[in-house]
Amino acid sequence: MSTLIKNGIVITENEVKTADVLIEGEKISTVGKSITAPNAKEIDASGLYVFPGGIDVHTHLDLDVGSTVSSDDFYTGQAAAAFGGTTTHIDFPTPRKGETLRAAFEEWLSKAAGKAVIDYGFHMSVVEVNNKILREIEELPDWGITSIKVYMAYKNILQLTDEEIYRVMQTAARKNITVMVHAENGDVIDFNVRNLIAEGKTEPKYHAISRPPLLEAEAVNRAIYIANAAGANVYIVHVTAEMSLNQITESRKRGLKVFAETCPQYLFLDDSYLELQNFEGAKYICSPPLRKPEDNEALWNGLKKGDLQIVSTDHCPFNFKGQKELGKEAFNKIPNGLPGIEDRVPLLYSEGIVKGRLTLNQFVRITSTNPAKLFGLYPQKGTLKTGSNADLFILDPNAERTITSQNHHMNVDYNPYEGFKIKGKIKKVFRRGELIVDGEEFLAEKGSGRYLHRKHLKWED
Ligand SMILES: [Zn+2]
Repeated sequence: MSTLIKNGIVITENEVKTADVLIEGEKISTVGKSITAPNAKEIDASGLYVFPGGIDVHTHLDLDVGSTVSSDDFYTGQAAAAFGGTTTHIDFPTPRKGETLRAAFEEWLSKAAGKAVIDYGFHMSVVEVNNKILREIEELPDWGITSIKVYMAYKNILQLTDEEIYRVMQTAARKNITVMVHAENGDVIDFNVRNLIAEGKTEPKYHAISRPPLLEAEAVNRAIYIANAAGANVYIVHVTAEMSLNQITESRKRGLKVFAETCPQYLFLDDSYLELQNFEGAKYICSPPLRKPEDNEALWNGLKKGDLQIVSTDHCPFNFKGQKELGKEAFNKIPNGLPGIEDRVPLLYSEGIVKGRLTLNQFVRITSTNPAKLFGLYPQKGTLKTGSNADLFILDPNAERTITSQNHHMNVDYNPYEGFKIKGKIKKVFRRGELIVDGEEFLAEKGSGRYLHRKHLKWED
């Protein structure tokens, strides 16, 4: 089957040009002027943008957090992603203590089996360290997993000690595995949480007070230095604060190696949302927490300058009713996480390009090319070149809409960006050459998304 997209404005990481895109089978065959293909189905894209499909490298679908399970599974979450122009994501198999990495990997494959509608890969979470786990880390590349995640927070649950992190990083370095770090000082935060609760300070806003930017910046710095001492590639997930970004920028200036991401909630929302009445602040609880408007601005600058390379979502949705409500008595019982997998690309387009904060090329790099390069998927994904997977979306730059949970596709009863008016509307989405979103219609067959065997980080600036 072939498709010819005519006269669109085709945008990649380094080009903007009016061109035709010929898709043959699952791949891009040619991008150029006046292509003819008599047997291809033709789509007129005059006046419309053609972008590489989004890649969201930080999601938590169908994740059991102990008290409850994130509300999107691999079907609902991936379908919502597709409506938002995202055609690839990377999720986190998270073993229980005592479980092998292999068991977690297989559990996640089975969560996706028969449900997947976009392509997906995995990063492995490492939540305890012993010789057996270290040996298993060395096997991960054979399973297509070239990145792992460690937590410096969530004491007694996911948190590792500095020694454990160093040992994991040394092992990862030997196999050229990238180490992603959740950087917050879990020991101090745990102490703060216990004290606040004991003082009767239980409302959602105290969640943010228990984990201030200083405790993030400290951990970011520690993560960078330990990783560089171990010789590992390090990637700081969900950077939220100017102070943390400064640690990254300074480290890079000193010649230390570090990559980092932020997320839409840290660009578009701030901690005033935590003070919403009637417990609605709980809708905005995530870790690290929402910060100040000055932090939002600093993060935009980091993206512009390239000190932050990626915007991912940390999509981890919980319904307000019945799930966020688990923390009515105390903020530390509120499941942590926000939805965003559907809104990342449209929000960044509207707030980034339309408002002049990002160029078209920067937008593509942040949402697609950099994720593909850092996580071993380039040039199979993350661009529109001959031979790349035909993952793309067509956007009408003149259409406008309002984000609302009334018509979003994520399986969650609220949207943190409710009422945001945005410019640009995604009209069609292709995944490996197949039209999977056509306006409001969803066309992908359950199980048609594919597991991606990823290669290693390959980055040249
Ligand atoms: Zn996460």
